[in-house]
Amino acid sequence: MSRQSLEIHLSRQQLDGLRDAAVNAWPVEACALLSGRWSDNGVSVKRIFQARNIDNSPVSFQLDPVELISIYSKVEEAGEEIVGIFHCHPAPPSPSFTDLRFMKLNPVVWIIMSMPSEAYAGYIWRNDKVVEVQVRVLD
Ligand SMILES: [Zn+2]
Repeated sequence: MSRQSLEIHLSRQQLDGLRDAAVNAWPVEACALLSGRWSDNGVSVKRIFQARNIDNSPVSFQLDPVELISIYSKVEEAGEEIVGIFHCHPAPPSPSFTDLRFMKLNPVVWIIMSMPSEAYAGYIWRNDKVVEVQVRVLD
C-alpha cells in the first residue's frame, strides 16, 4: 500500500467560491458537491455544485434529494464523478460524529471549513479510519 499522502487539488477561484458560499450562508451551514477525477494520489476538482442546505441549520446539513439527482446527472454526463463534499460548521475544521457516519457512507474527500475563521481541512474515510487529505490550491 502506498504511503504517499492523499491530496485534493482545486483552483484558487474554486476555493474562493466555496469560501464565499460559506460566508454568504453563515450562520447556516453551506454545502457543495465537488466533481472531478480520481488519480493515484487523490482527486482533482473540475466543477463545484453549490447545493441548498435543506436543514437550514447552523449545525447540520442535508441536500435536497431532487437537487442531488440533477447534480449527479450533470456530473455523469460530463464523464466525471463526485470526488468531494464541502460543508462548513461552527467548530474547528474536523469531522463531527455525524460527519464520520456519513463519511463512511460517502468515501470521497470531505472539505470542512470552520466558520467564521475560514480555516479548512480535508479528510477521507479509508481502511476504517479518518485520514487527512492535503488541500492543494493551484493558482
Ligand atoms: Zn460537519
